[in-house]
Amino acid sequence: MESALAKQVYDKLLSVYGPQKCFLEHMTPFQLLVATILSAQCTDKRVNMVTRDLFQRWPDAEAFANCGREELEQAIFTCGFYRAKADHILKAAKAIVEQFHGELPDTMEGLLKLPGVGRKTANVVLGDALDKPGFPVDTHVRRLSALIGLSGSSDPEVIESDICAVMPPETWAQFSHLLIVHGRTRCPANRPDCPGCELAKLCRHTKADKPVGKKAKASASKKTAKAPVRKTAKPATKKTVAKKAASPARSAKKSTSKSGTRS
Ligand code: SF4
Repeated sequence: MESALAKQVYDKLLSVYGPQKCFLEHMTPFQLLVATILSAQCTDKRVNMVTRDLFQRWPDAEAFANCGREELEQAIFTCGFYRAKADHILKAAKAIVEQFHGELPDTMEGLLKLPGVGRKTANVVLGDALDKPGFPVDTHVRRLSALIGLSGSSDPEVIESDICAVMPPETWAQFSHLLIVHGRTRCPANRPDCPGCELAKLCRHTKADKPVGKKAKASASKKTAKAPVRKTAKPATKKTVAKKAASPARSAKKSTSKSGTRS
C-alpha cells in the first residue's frame, strides 16, 4: 500500500472530524476491556448505558471475579450474547486476579493471554487506555480499508499490519477512530454517500468504474467496434444534379394524378 494514500486519508479525516476520543466510557483500562467485550454486535450507546450501572456495582477485576454469573448475565442482558460475554468477562477477570495480581497486562502478548481477548480488544485497550500504539480493526475499519484502498486484504490482522507499516505509531488509535466515525456518518455499508464524500478524490471505490491501463484500452476498442457505421453521402455527379432538378416537376405530376384519383 502507498504510504502517501494512508497519510492523505488520515489528514483529510482529521481535518473533517477533528481528534476523536474513545467511544466507550471507562475509568480504568480494565473497565475498557469489559466495555469492549460487551460492544461486540452491540452499539456503543447501549454499552455505555449498561456500564454506567455495571461499574458502580463491580468496579474492578477482583469484584467481577467474585460476582455471581447469573447476576452478571442479567446486568448485561440488553447487550446481546449475554451468556458468552459474561463468560469472557468472568474468565478474564479471574485470570487477571490469579495470574497478573489484579493488574491488567499492558502488552499485546499479555492481553492476548486473557480468555476472550482478541487483537481488536487488545488494540482498543492499548491505544485508548494504556497510551500505547494500538490500531483496532472493527467492521467499519475493515470495510473502509478495502473501499478506500488502504489494504488489499479483508483479514483484520493483515489490514492492521498494512496500515501500521506506513503510519506512525502515535496515529494508529486516532486513525482507527477516524475511519469508524467516517464509516458511521458518510460511508455506512448500505448507503455510502460518495458524491458528498470528503475522500472521493482519494477513494479507490470512486475510481472503480473508470477502467485503467489494459482494461481502458480494451473497453475503448470495444466501444469503437460497437459504434454504428455512418453512411457517407455519395458525391454529387452531373447526372444526379440533373435528376434532382427534374424531380419537383415529376413529383407535382404524380401528386396531381394521385389527388385526382382520390377525389
Ligand atoms: S468515496 Fe464513497 S466509498 Fe469511498 S469512503 Fe467516501 S463514501 Fe465511502
